[in-house]
Amino acid sequence: MWMDKQRGIRVSQEELLCKNACGYYGNPAWQGLCSKCWRERARAAGTPREEIRPRCDGTLPTFSKFEEKKNIEKGRRINTVRRLFWGSPSPPKPQESSESRANVLKAYENLEPGDFTGFLKILRSPPSQRLQSRCTAFLNTMEAYHDLPVQKQSDLVQDFYQSFAEYFSSFPEAQVTQIMEHVEKLIMTRLHKWVFCHDSCDDEQKDLALQRRIRSLNWVTPQMLGVPFPDEKVSVTGDPFLPAITAIIEMDAKRAPQDKLACVSKCSQHVFEALSRSNSEPANADDFLSSLVYVVLKANPPRLHSNMQYVIRFGLPHSLMAGESGYYFTNLSCAVAFIEKLDGPALSLSPEEFEGYMLGQRTPCALNRRQQVISDTQNLLEDLKGRQEKLDQGMDALNAQLQKWVQEVHSQLDETRSQFVLAQKEITAQKEVLLSTQDNKEESVLVLEDQDGGLRETGC
Ligand SMILES: [Zn+2]
Repeated sequence: MWMDKQRGIRVSQEELLCKNACGYYGNPAWQGLCSKCWRERARAAGTPREEIRPRCDGTLPTFSKFEEKKNIEKGRRINTVRRLFWGSPSPPKPQESSESRANVLKAYENLEPGDFTGFLKILRSPPSQRLQSRCTAFLNTMEAYHDLPVQKQSDLVQDFYQSFAEYFSSFPEAQVTQIMEHVEKLIMTRLHKWVFCHDSCDDEQKDLALQRRIRSLNWVTPQMLGVPFPDEKVSVTGDPFLPAITAIIEMDAKRAPQDKLACVSKCSQHVFEALSRSNSEPANADDFLSSLVYVVLKANPPRLHSNMQYVIRFGLPHSLMAGESGYYFTNLSCAVAFIEKLDGPALSLSPEEFEGYMLGQRTPCALNRRQQVISDTQNLLEDLKGRQEKLDQGMDALNAQLQKWVQEVHSQLDETRSQFVLAQKEITAQKEVLLSTQDNKEESVLVLEDQDGGLRETGC
């Protein structure tokens, strides 16, 4: 297709999948393997005597597989973990009657999805005491051994998830997943400060290197990446990927791996929304990945490497290997890998052009346009500020005038009122005078009338 020429990044669905062809999502951080195959390989390398077989059968990741996996990984390590969490290397079942176990399970059965507070309430209730003390014991052990190598800590946490999930093996898969999400949140919220960006690994240096790398690529434009971008409207509507940029930056503030993953999902959903607004056709996987690269370059998310490693090491396996969150996380890993090895041809630039940009000798015309837009906006803002100041001055003057006028009206009113009172007094006085003269007249008329009557009587 002719459009393909513009696209800097192309990735097929197959490329996103595990190199062992197990059907799960792979990740550049695990050399293209899924977390399961990667972990199995790492364990095989770490404990060569154990019988490790990759079991990539293409089925969905399930917690019920843990039982099977446990049977394969019969070894010293598992027994150590059991001793650590269950008090003895033997399975926990004999210590709890099937009746009390059924009661505990019943309480968890009615748990609403996503109700973490409800989960804590059940966990802290007396019937669930055994499970709660296991969590507490595990957390205390992890804190006490917080200087263990981070990979060891990751193994311990993953083993804990497995042993915890086993307890609910009679539950449907979806329900176990929900419960395990609560367990992950509970455990990792507390362990975060001990295991995030751990001293035993080079996460911090890698974070800094990635941050520097992203900063050195600040000249890359959406056009170079082939991102569908509303170029002309940029000054009016702003960056359509801003919500996605904000979401990926928020990742660092979360403590539970699933909450960090939720930020990645939120970011990705915002990318799809932005793409659907700027494109009439539905967004494809290439558009999505290019846009994600753009978002990561713009956001330069704090401690990105550490955050991703933390999710890989301490997240629930199923949330990374499949489903929406797995797909988005794999794409984010691809975006970071792309940024790390980004060169001229990937951006349709010659090596000389790429070098020129990296050395700051060149600036893309789109960048110039944006700088122009920025300076135009700044001028406009200055102008608006001046007008605002004038308006404020005018308002002050008007206010003073208004107050003066009100005072004048008040004094005129006072004057009028006093004049009115005077006039009223005068009128009353005149009225009284008038009334008294009228009375005198009436009296004299009466006298006259009386006199007339007397005359008439005498006249008859
Ligand atoms: Zn795999």
